[in-house]
Amino acid sequence: MARCVGYKRDGTPCERIVGALQQYCYAHDPARAEARKRNASKGGRSKPNREILDIKNHLKELTLEVLSGAVATAPYAVANQLINARLRAVEVERKVREQDELLERIEALEKQAEAKPGRSRQWEA
Ligand SMILES: [Zn+2]
Repeated sequence: MARCVGYKRDGTPCERIVGALQQYCYAHDPARAEARKRNASKGGRSKPNREILDIKNHLKELTLEVLSGAVATAPYAVANQLINARLRAVEVERKVREQDELLERIEALEKQAEAKPGRSRQWEA
């Protein structure tokens, strides 16, 4: 079976299996770079990282304030619950984005399979 000739971020070969007429997998195909960029920005890949960083900073501040002992802790307990709820929302968002990306990749594979007469049967085997 043919393997992608691309390289992963760490410099090791990709090794994803590709169609017989292809050199690259979806992630490394230079012809798909634009589409990948669109998908990445649409999914806002960097956004959750910023959001999580924001949450962590917030947690650090709250923890330091509580540990200083100078304040009532009840409001902080509520703040902690809200932060947890926000973390769950971020996690759900990530999962949905992951599923969307997978669906797009599956659709791309299906289109490739359809575009090659006589090769579509390999998906039925
Ligand atoms: Zn690849």
